Amino acid sequence: MQYVERVLDELKRKNPNEPEFHQAATEILNGLAPVIAKHPEYEKAALLERFVEPERVIMFRVPWVDDQGNVHVNKGYRVQFNSAIGPYKGGLRFHPSVNLSIIKFLGLEQILKNSLTGLPIGGGKGGSDFDPKGKSDNEIMRFCQSFMTELYRHIGQDTDVPAGDIGVGGREIGYLFGQYKRIANEHVGVLTGRGLSYGGSLVRTEATGYGLVYITAEALKARGDSFEGKTVVISGSGNVAIYACEKAQQLGAKVVAMYDSNGYIYDKKGIKLDVVKQIKEVERARIKVYAECVKGAEYHEGCKGIWTIPCDIALPCATQNEIDGESARILVKNGVKYVAEGANMPTDLEGISVFQKAGVVFLPAKAANAGGVATSALEMAQSSGRMFWTFEEVDAKLKNIMINIYHNMDKAAKDYGCEGDYVAGANIAGFIKVATAMMAHGIV
Ligand code: NDP
Repeated sequence: MQYVERVLDELKRKNPNEPEFHQAATEILNGLAPVIAKHPEYEKAALLERFVEPERVIMFRVPWVDDQGNVHVNKGYRVQFNSAIGPYKGGLRFHPSVNLSIIKFLGLEQILKNSLTGLPIGGGKGGSDFDPKGKSDNEIMRFCQSFMTELYRHIGQDTDVPAGDIGVGGREIGYLFGQYKRIANEHVGVLTGRGLSYGGSLVRTEATGYGLVYITAEALKARGDSFEGKTVVISGSGNVAIYACEKAQQLGAKVVAMYDSNGYIYDKKGIKLDVVKQIKEVERARIKVYAECVKGAEYHEGCKGIWTIPCDIALPCATQNEIDGESARILVKNGVKYVAEGANMPTDLEGISVFQKAGVVFLPAKAANAGGVATSALEMAQSSGRMFWTFEEVDAKLKNIMINIYHNMDKAAKDYGCEGDYVAGANIAGFIKVATAMMAHGIV
């Protein structure tokens, strides 16, 4: 049996009931086959076996009290996956669907994504099955304080630097940082995505969405094209989706649809982003309110229908496995030319294969959404240097990083005989640096 296949079989046997982790590992390891073929020394050093096994998994209980005095207990996780090229870095996700499988898939992806940025950051991920929806600010604060009361002993500015993800935005990072500072008695860059008044970086809020559009713009440019006049569908209406919409509109595209977990809005005249921001960032209300505010806009219950809307560019920016084979086929039939993943693993394995066979330019998450973590690393650099860059400076660095990622994965795909396959190209370009560092460190 081939090395990659054997490692995948063993991974499934040792980690049953972790379908998302299996899915991510399958996508990554299959893409690495040409690298493994060139480096027989990796098998001798059991490099892949070590690569798919987290360095450390921390699981803990998170007890908290709601406004009525009832006690709740949630699960807390931090997977410190790989620190070969730098301290663990990756977000915290608060969502009822969170389990070990999801955190491990995200952590594994994060290793390669962080490597692709070219910055010295390892891979980690964490979170909780806590649902922030419908909770008061005080409940959110008490939950975050309880979560950090355990997490603080495992993280540090040179060890592990968490950030936000689904359900963890500026408010949550503020409460988490406040509790860390109180217990550890140090004001350091131990979390990123911090507010500007206490060590945050300009552009961090916009970074993932802007970065997604910058890398897609580079792919368009390489084909003599641009965002100008393109019709775009974006799933989600959270942090990534909102700022992807903003940048795409700035570059002349028409964004016609967005969604939240209840349903989608379709505005054929073009989404009015100020209305979405008011609903989502200020009122924390449901996206259906948009159709009540904007004449001519439609609201449809359910999410999947969004992919039946004809578009040139699809930017899935909500969650994993949003686009299955069926949705991918509909998008292709309706003429989609580019799909760039803002969310992590939003396209399932069948969906990816449909896009690639149809010649759609497919930019995978670990490259396309790396702008968030790249800007987090820029936040770390500013914290350590006790300095502060302007919006223009950070934005220019972000754009440059995204352009480099595009060309590195494009080159890796060409070098390893799979031109235009950016899934393989991103996996290979990210993996080589991590593998080289792991080999240099010996068997650890
Ligand atoms: P937010 O919590 O800000 O927004 C998430 C959005 O996706 C919301 O509109 C939410 O709807 C929707 N959503 C979440 N779960 C589901 C679901 N199961 N079905 C349908 N819709 C869903 O998160 P972010 O924007 O920060 O993250 C979105 C994606 O981007 C995630 O995959 C995340 O891992 C990835 N990402 C984020 C980065 C960042 O910097 N924030 C960096 C890199 C990747 P509702 O409000 O109804 O739940």
